[in-house]
Amino acid sequence: MSPSNPARDPRYDILFTPVTIGPVTARNRFFQVPHCNGMGYRDPTSEAFMRGVKAEGGWAVVCTEEAEIHPTADLTPAIELRLWDDDDIPAVARIADKIHEYDALAGIELTHGGAHSPNLASRIVPMGPTALPVSSDHHPVNARAMTLADIADVRAWHRAAVRRSLQAGFDLVYVYAGHGMTVLEQFLSPRHNQRTDGYGGDLAGRMRLLREVLEETRELCAGKAAVACRLGVDDPEMGVSRAETEEIVGTLAELPDLWDFVAGAWEDDSMSSRFGPEGGQEKAVAGLKQLTSKPVVGVGRFTSPDEMVRQVRSGVLDFIGAARPSIADPFLPNKIREGRLEAIRECIGCNICVSGDWTSSPIRCTQNPSMGEEWRRGWHPERLRPRRIDARVLVVGAGPAGLEAATSLGRRGFDVTLLESSRHLGGRVRREARLPGLSAWIRVVDHREYLLTTLPNVEHYFESELSADEVLEHGFDHVAVATGAVWRADGVGRSRAVPLDLPAHVPLLTPDDLMHGRRPADPGSRVLLYDDDHYYMGGALAELLAREGYQVELVTPAADVSAWTANTMELTKIRARIMGAGVQVSTRRSLAAGPAGVVTTGCVFTGELREHAADTLVLVTGRAARSPLHTELIAREDQWAGAGLKTVDLIGDALAPGIIAAAVWSGREYAEQLQSEGPRDALPYRREVTRLAPMDPLPTPATSDNG
Ligand code: ADP
Ligand code: SF4
Repeated sequence: MSPSNPARDPRYDILFTPVTIGPVTARNRFFQVPHCNGMGYRDPTSEAFMRGVKAEGGWAVVCTEEAEIHPTADLTPAIELRLWDDDDIPAVARIADKIHEYDALAGIELTHGGAHSPNLASRIVPMGPTALPVSSDHHPVNARAMTLADIADVRAWHRAAVRRSLQAGFDLVYVYAGHGMTVLEQFLSPRHNQRTDGYGGDLAGRMRLLREVLEETRELCAGKAAVACRLGVDDPEMGVSRAETEEIVGTLAELPDLWDFVAGAWEDDSMSSRFGPEGGQEKAVAGLKQLTSKPVVGVGRFTSPDEMVRQVRSGVLDFIGAARPSIADPFLPNKIREGRLEAIRECIGCNICVSGDWTSSPIRCTQNPSMGEEWRRGWHPERLRPRRIDARVLVVGAGPAGLEAATSLGRRGFDVTLLESSRHLGGRVRREARLPGLSAWIRVVDHREYLLTTLPNVEHYFESELSADEVLEHGFDHVAVATGAVWRADGVGRSRAVPLDLPAHVPLLTPDDLMHGRRPADPGSRVLLYDDDHYYMGGALAELLAREGYQVELVTPAADVSAWTANTMELTKIRARIMGAGVQVSTRRSLAAGPAGVVTTGCVFTGELREHAADTLVLVTGRAARSPLHTELIAREDQWAGAGLKTVDLIGDALAPGIIAAAVWSGREYAEQLQSEGPRDALPYRREVTRLAPMDPLPTPATSDNG
């Protein structure tokens, strides 16, 4: 048993008791479940360092994301890991090594996507239990039905991948049958498996492939590594009933060394905080642990140690599984262990991390700007390089960019002054956290407000604005201007580069107006909300106004409401919610010039004009940076040297408006680069360049003889 820390409340001790998983033992109950990260086979060293930081932060088990076992199921354009053949071993071994460096167990999630993979790279016809259209992303691809020989092949590829995982040094090997994305789960599903042979039909037949793969994995791991089974539960798309799920777990109960239950499709399992609370998977997972003697892991965006203890004590879970809480705070276990709960950087449930997978780009996190930068920029979630020489830094504006810059500079040891013109910290985050469903976002401010209490070298002042002359008088060495942005009121947005003649006489409101409490004059009147921003703001404001009783029509040039939220897996939930709130939706229409006093839109395909009955127009379009102080300081550049001022920079939305994660990252980047010594023309970060393969020609095919 790990020694109890005197600073820790003893009621959390249970979270630090070791748990045996077959032949291996986890030092505590904190388990980083497999999660995608947009780095995978393209950026394996970046991934290795990212996983290593989790192990350093106290997670007893740290897993990789999906590792494709064969090109018959390639997940392109997603960038996951690969274990197609021995050439892939060094990359995954580097990840296992980094995890081991900090005494954590390394897990790998093997996968064959079956009829879910469109095989865009390999071009091999996908295969699944039944011949069906491929289920992901509307790709015009069909899967063929697997023959018995194909089934034998999948088993053989899985066995080979298990051997390679062992060779790479993993302690835990996942057999993956969840999220509707794997061939093993497709075989379990009465919808996707319409076979009439021994691998289909009744549940025993549908379970056969999973059982065989579990048995074979177990045989190969044979005391060297543990076997985990990741099983999807309560996924309506898969159509496996609750009774069947219980029968599967009850029958295969002792085959794996650990069960990992995932609730529903991925978008339900990784539910954003806008749509589900912490611990939201409990209903789906409760009761399954009682069907097996093996330990159980499950997730729930857990950041509260009390909730974690309740999950364990009430017999729902043995391990506190986490993807997002471990991304937002890789040191969450250590902070609980050391009794430093107030230092936890809680996940806000925004799902920006998930967008990395959907956009094939390295994972980023709103709360943790070092995520994905551990190797390539050398950033760490808890430690920053000390400053080289003393310097006084002024940060103007305490939104996410200014707060992150000030606290990161403070952690580097600079003497920092943070000025905020309003009475509150947080800028846009404080406003946006009051929108429907977004209250958890205030954690971005809460965490940095806590950090300020730990940094005596960072002073902050409210209701303070300095003119450029005053800044020069105070003798700062560096100034970072983080004064944010304002929503535009001239029609310029993603689909329009120049202002539009907006309808005269129709009152106009922007998101800033609404967030500052302004409303259309007449309660219950008609509002046309035009969304040319395409992230969460349009949908959230439409919901807000509809719930307040206005008759809302949301018009957007995109094909979907809040189209970019496809990348945060919120798109369908947002649409359902605003439909539920009574919002009328018109897609693929742009604001157009029309008769004065009438809001007019045009069809994006034909230009056909339509007049809308609207008493108020709400424009959710572009944002414009707001930085008059910066402009004034630049105009006085000739006075800087005399005042001791060396640099003036724009950061966050004041440089270019973006998402909150980008503002936080910008604040961190500013703090990291101050007094950096690299040459100006150096690349901003390291990268991993693909090793060139030999150019030996493939054997020439024999010429066919048609003569
Ligand atoms: P970002 O997302 O880049 O952090 P925000 O708009 O969230 O930007 O925050 C900008 C913050 O700067 C707000 O809290 C705002 O009140 C504050 N601010 C704007 N202008 C000034 C100024 N001249 N002096 C001090 N604070 C300012
Ligand atoms: Fe949580 Fe958002 Fe960070 Fe993902 S990006 S871990 S959801 S705070």
